[in-house]
Amino acid sequence: MQTPVILIVEDEDVTRLNLVSLFEAEGYKVIEAIDGDDMHDKLTNNDDVNLVVMDINLPGKNGLILARELRQKRKVGLIFLTGRDNDVDRILGLEIGADDYITKPFNASIVKVRVRNQLLIKQKNDLLEMLASIDGLTEIPNRRYLDENLSREWRRSKRNGSCLSVLLVDIDHFKRYNDCYGHRAGDECLKQVAQALAAQCERSTDFIARYGGEEFAAVLPDVNKQQALAFAQKLRKAVNSLNIEHKASLNADHITISIGIASMENGNASAEQALLEQADLGLYAAKDAGRDQVVALNL
Ligand code: GH3
Ligand code: MG
Ligand code: MG
Ligand code: MG
Repeated sequence: MQTPVILIVEDEDVTRLNLVSLFEAEGYKVIEAIDGDDMHDKLTNNDDVNLVVMDINLPGKNGLILARELRQKRKVGLIFLTGRDNDVDRILGLEIGADDYITKPFNASIVKVRVRNQLLIKQKNDLLEMLASIDGLTEIPNRRYLDENLSREWRRSKRNGSCLSVLLVDIDHFKRYNDCYGHRAGDECLKQVAQALAAQCERSTDFIARYGGEEFAAVLPDVNKQQALAFAQKLRKAVNSLNIEHKASLNADHITISIGIASMENGNASAEQALLEQADLGLYAAKDAGRDQVVALNL
């Protein structure tokens, strides 16, 4: 397990320093913030925060308001550690979505064990989420992951007026491959193609998912049509280079792929579904034109 990262949001120096030494003694990495603005800055600069331990009485926005903002922004664990020792605040804090509520003055041993419990729960949840997003056969992201993340990227492109490109990739004459070499060999081939495609994603924002059957989708944020065409050619060449024998193919003697591209520029696509449909039309055109090629139609 990676070193857990805890962000403490606490304006009182003495309390904050106590918590820092308590958590560091447990082997955690600790980041400190003294108010809400500081918390947002620290979260922006640290993607790896697992748990936030937050005071409620803070200068500026109080912890209950910050918890709402935090819940919209990030999936992290949240524990309130506060002097507000009454049931109204306790209920409110837990209703907002805090995972635990501890009151001051605190017992260090109790804080330690409750923090450890929350870190374990968070770790299990992350693992479950990861497993639920990975395709069992190819070990790349699955359709569920694609749907969720394409939606998010589409909304972001709309909002920022930035480009977004989507590629649909389909293995050529794959039914004939199964018929010729058997379903087991077909599975192995799918795996190899998926891994070769995934290996071409160099930017952390790009991803390729299994769209279904022998089809894959690539989502490329901030990539325009020209760049998407270049990337698609790279994918096509990578699969050609695998040189997987396919005697029954009607367009080559090895496994090839066809690719359709849809690019939205300046956030102008009417719906995320339109991007997929457009990419699908491009894919059909690529098949029609003889396969082992890339087609980008205008949106
Ligand atoms: P085209 O070039 O037009 O795409 O022809 P195709 O044969 O690839 O397309 P078609 O849609 O006719 O067939 C897709 C085949 O992919 C049929 C199906 O059995 C196979 N397939 C889909 N999922 C899997 C899988 O998980 N494992 C294996 N082995 N085969 C699969
Ligand atoms: Mg305070
Ligand atoms: Mg297909
Ligand atoms: Mg196919």
